[in-house]
Amino acid sequence: MALIVQKYGGTSVANPERIKNLASRVARYKALGHQVVVVVSAMSGETNRLIALAKEIMPDPDPRELDMMVSTGEQVTIGLTAMALMDLGVKARSYTGAQVRIVTDSAFTKARILKIDDERIRADLDAGNVVVVAGFQGVDEHGNITTLGRGGSDTTGVALAAALKADECQIYTDVDGVYTTDPRVVPEARRLKSITFEEMLELASQGSKVLQIRSVEFAGKYQVKLRVLSSFEEEGDGTLITFEEEDNMEQPIISGIAFNRDEAKVTVLGVPDRPGIAYQILGPIADANIDVDIIIQNTGADGTTDFTFTVHKNELNKALGLLRDKQKDIGAREIAGDEKIAKVSIVGVGMRSHVGVASLMFKTLAEEGINIQMISTSEIKIAVVIDEKYMELAVRVLHKAFGLDKA
Ligand code: ASP
Ligand code: MG
Repeated sequence: MALIVQKYGGTSVANPERIKNLASRVARYKALGHQVVVVVSAMSGETNRLIALAKEIMPDPDPRELDMMVSTGEQVTIGLTAMALMDLGVKARSYTGAQVRIVTDSAFTKARILKIDDERIRADLDAGNVVVVAGFQGVDEHGNITTLGRGGSDTTGVALAAALKADECQIYTDVDGVYTTDPRVVPEARRLKSITFEEMLELASQGSKVLQIRSVEFAGKYQVKLRVLSSFEEEGDGTLITFEEEDNMEQPIISGIAFNRDEAKVTVLGVPDRPGIAYQILGPIADANIDVDIIIQNTGADGTTDFTFTVHKNELNKALGLLRDKQKDIGAREIAGDEKIAKVSIVGVGMRSHVGVASLMFKTLAEEGINIQMISTSEIKIAVVIDEKYMELAVRVLHKAFGLDKA
């Protein structure tokens, strides 16, 4: 007997038929003697619909109230899922995040899980129930409902698996695993049988939308065995996220290519080249809780330098506003924003033991006449910022250049 957490995304609960389908799968696991905790997202499109509705009332919705209403999407699906199970004769009980007591901090719309009370769930499991938990939401110490950021149900699933010391956390989605890149962009993309946790973390943080990044961080921290599977197929092993690099001669140098159009570039031109300037620029950005990704400072010339960084597109105006307010103190000549950028990243643990990876990437892009605006690297990743309009082309040529289309 194993304890399994199964998380189902929006497309897997999109309509009554799919919810019934999900219930049959859960019933099969239950019939094998396993204990099952099910985490569900809102029906696909529902979270977007709720956010749009909020914006019709208040253009920049109050975060506390936004969480209050957006969290209802998942409350609908937990009830429906429990009913679908009952209809199959499976004992089931549903809970919102607040009822479980998934305690988070108070950062509305992007709260972090602090702790989970597992008592109630354990008691229900021991009594033979399938427990259905609303993804994406929690409650802060003051009793306010919070949400965990878009895609947050993955994190709910993994966090519950960690808290319950589950044997496996299965993430059911509309793809049958993690691919070398998005098959909608590169039809030759292949499913990976396994990928290391570190690679998955890089891919998620570079824009692969298969798993929310926090869920991968959680899985790494608590060593949760994580598997990505399709909810539309009965068979298939999906992709297993592993913790060890297999000693495999045939391991590719690059495992995957991620991309995203979600970032925007902020350039602070002509700032004095002196100690404290990076802090003066990024301090207010951090204080406003705006995440910064790539940061570049040029070497100074004539006592001044240029400072460039990227933020989420949604936060570009806020970041520009904050810096323009401080432009005089910083002593900057100009502050500019650019939304028409994209980031393309190649990821692979094989980079550690191979040379020439960066040069192959740059050569491949140069041959297509694609200009690189920013570069950032880690031990297992090289990311470039390019003009948004060349993104898909860049992904396709890199996929080929690194042989990812060959099994
Ligand atoms: N329903 C939420 C969203 O769309 C959470 C999730 O699906 O993971 O972001
Ligand atoms: Mg998702």
